[in-house]
Amino acid sequence: AKLVGRNTYSFFTPEMRAQSVRALQLENALRRALERDQFTLHYQPQVCITTGQLTGVEALLRWQHPELGQVSPAEFIPVAEDCGQILPIGEWVLRQALVQLRVWRNQGFALKTMAVNLSAVQFRQPQLPEIIKRTLAETGLEPGCLELELTEGVAMDDPRAAIATMDQLHACGIRLSMDDFGTGYSSLSQLKRFPIYKLKIDQSFVRDLDDDANDRAIVSAIIRMAQALGMQTIAEGVETIGQLAFLREQGCTEAQGYHCGRPQPAAQLQALLAAQLLC
Ligand code: C2E
Ligand code: CA
Ligand code: CA
Ligand code: CA
Repeated sequence: AKLVGRNTYSFFTPEMRAQSVRALQLENALRRALERDQFTLHYQPQVCITTGQLTGVEALLRWQHPELGQVSPAEFIPVAEDCGQILPIGEWVLRQALVQLRVWRNQGFALKTMAVNLSAVQFRQPQLPEIIKRTLAETGLEPGCLELELTEGVAMDDPRAAIATMDQLHACGIRLSMDDFGTGYSSLSQLKRFPIYKLKIDQSFVRDLDDDANDRAIVSAIIRMAQALGMQTIAEGVETIGQLAFLREQGCTEAQGYHCGRPQPAAQLQALLAAQLLC
């Protein structure tokens, strides 16, 4: 009896309790965040690796709460996915990002693409293609300017349904890119059936490129595979000139990372748009 008594308490540890309290706190705060105008978008440059020119930007969500402070998307996006709030939030991100692109185009900046992250929960929403088409029409933008960043997780439960949705989006002229490539579950035999325009090489492979021969081999293989499948490649998390030089030599098409520009508010990115040459 003593033994059982000693062991039972460990099913719900203080850390687990603290974690669920925090999740509940975030969930409650998230439900009011949109109406209270607590979200903003930052934009990170994506540059052509051969010319150094800005080709597009990735919209990254920022949440500033009066008591919780700045909460990282890595923490609040999973909570928003669990409680369903990701649907209205994701729709806000899409609209805000496209409105911003419209504004930049109107000011005469030749920005080709706006990349928007799409949660697997949004991806499975039946109305998604309609929502996207409506938002593009309202902002008067051509579908080819929108790049949706998906993760391999979208195809985990039901690959056939995922491919059908991808085909539908692709048929509209929207570009799909596979985010965090190499960290997910999808097999290469599946990948060849996805209408993917671009592979985003995950930053975990890029981080140690300067001194890890295994990472160099993996990155080089991903680039060659993408080339064989007719896909573009973008490396994320590029922080050094050495990483950039290796990626360029291997034929990677684009780069994104602190070396080329941090995620930044719209007003700041505008100065870069005026200058154009980044790398
Ligand atoms: P992600 O889509 O893989 O975005 C890349 C993350 O790497 C961003 O973190 C970015 O700020 C960071 N990063 C960019 N360059 C560098 C670099 O050179 N070095 C390092 N160490 N990091 C770099 P962030 O903004 O904190 O976003 C984290 C994740 O949250 C994103 O990962 C994405 O999965 C998710 N997320 C962000 N915004 C949205 C959104 O609007 N919708 C959805 N569904 N998810 C989002
Ligand atoms: Ca992304
Ligand atoms: Ca990524
Ligand atoms: Ca990531």
